Amino acid sequence: MQSSVYDLLVLGAGPAGLALAQAASAQGNQVAVLSPTPLKPWEQTFCAWLDELPAGTPTTATWPHALVHLGEGQGRTINRPYALLDNSALQAQLSVGLELQDGRAEQVIHSKGFSQVNGLRARVVVDATGHKPALLQTPDTPPVGWQTAFGATLIGAHGLPLDRAVFMDWRTTSASALQPTFLYALPLGPERLFVEETSLIAGQPPSMESLRGKLMLRLKAMGLEGELVAPERCLFPMGGALPPVQRTVAFGASAGMVHPATGYSVGRSLRMAQDVAKALDPSLSPEAASAKLWSAVWPASTRRSRSLHMMGARILERLDLHQTQAFFGAFFDLPVPVWSRYLDSDSSPVWPMLKLFGSAKPPVRRQLLSSTLSQGVP
Ligand SMILES: Cc1cc2nc3c(=O)[nH]c(=O)nc-3n(C[C@H](O)[C@H](O)[C@H](O)COP(=O)(O)OP(=O)(O)OC[C@H]3O[C@@H](n4cnc5c(N)ncnc54)[C@H](O)[C@@H]3O)c2cc1C
Repeated sequence: MQSSVYDLLVLGAGPAGLALAQAASAQGNQVAVLSPTPLKPWEQTFCAWLDELPAGTPTTATWPHALVHLGEGQGRTINRPYALLDNSALQAQLSVGLELQDGRAEQVIHSKGFSQVNGLRARVVVDATGHKPALLQTPDTPPVGWQTAFGATLIGAHGLPLDRAVFMDWRTTSASALQPTFLYALPLGPERLFVEETSLIAGQPPSMESLRGKLMLRLKAMGLEGELVAPERCLFPMGGALPPVQRTVAFGASAGMVHPATGYSVGRSLRMAQDVAKALDPSLSPEAASAKLWSAVWPASTRRSRSLHMMGARILERLDLHQTQAFFGAFFDLPVPVWSRYLDSDSSPVWPMLKLFGSAKPPVRRQLLSSTLSQGVP
């Protein structure tokens, strides 16, 4: 439909943009989405803990358990189901009935009654264009680090248990490989295994070539042979400053909703879309409506949690491989409900952080203390 002024114009048709547009449309608002080739398939391997996804989110695979390997013989089995999203079904579910416009947002002009982007007028504009926001004013500060990964699907018998996702395997293939990277592996069938060498957060991220080389060495050491198909590469900032409140609202990665210490955001965007859409208020002026939406994207409580998550990101960024192994050993020894709270961007991480400090062995505790003191308590 061609409305003279939409209630909401969403820029970007990634998971965050479509989830918000769909929720707002379902609540009776006139919504348009502007994105280049809006139904271009999402190619990333999107995963989340199953309990973090809204009911009805389509998945391609779920694993009842997850594994964490810290060193030889030091494994942990996590009894928390993990899920691989079904991108095409999710994209179809979130875009049904939406007005999708093909185009790249170039400029926004705000006036008293509406905002205008590429000739489209709306009371509220939300920029959901990802890690490099198209039209937001963003702070000029560097992120804490970068997450990088090289992944591919191995075709061939792998022998790994099919009911376990390998969440993190920090075992090394060579003693000199001190740069902390881990293997992430999703058994997709007896002869299909998604494998990814990941650097969780690094100020100086390893090159794709070195990640690929490490992955090859690792697979060889594990006796895994087969063809690697559908390579995917991942590089995005972790833990930057939040964009300031402004007339254009942000949602998803553009809003800094990526967990600073893990890199996950998709589950959170899907979860939050309904509440943020509910905050759209046609009785307010466009300026006041935008301000109200910002408060729904970043309520004061989650702003506070984020500064603590940023502290976690800075700690992780400084750890070498052995310190990282010790850190995650202590972390995953905590009860699942406790560490889950740390990974959940919506919950306060204070309790898990205190529990981690209280239960960690002295070297980890010293590391946490020195990193915390050197960066100051937020
Ligand atoms: C290989 C890989 C694997 C990942 N795995 C996971 C995972 O398992 N779980 C997880 O939570 N996260 C994962 N991530 C991170 C995740 O991809 C991002 O955090 C997530 O895509 C952010 O969603 P979003 O909708 O905010 O932005 P995006 O998915 O980046 O979508 C942005 C949209 O904006 C559009 N756009 C860009 N510029 C403009 C413009 N000027 N005008 C209009 N539209 C524009 C784009 O075309 C796109 O449609 C992974 C990332 C990579 C690269």
